[in-house]
Amino acid sequence: MARGDYYEDDGSTEKEMCPRCGDTFLADHDDRQVCGKCGYTEWE
Ligand SMILES: [Zn+2]
Repeated sequence: MARGDYYEDDGSTEKEMCPRCGDTFLADHDDRQVCGKCGYTEWE
């Protein structure tokens, strides 16, 4: 069933990668994206 850890039920698979970690996806917020690993924040 699970095709990958990063596949969401809503079908959104386009996630930004953390430029610092390189292997971590950024978590979506209303006006920014945050890396849960190193705390890198990318404002939109
Ligand atoms: Zn990171």
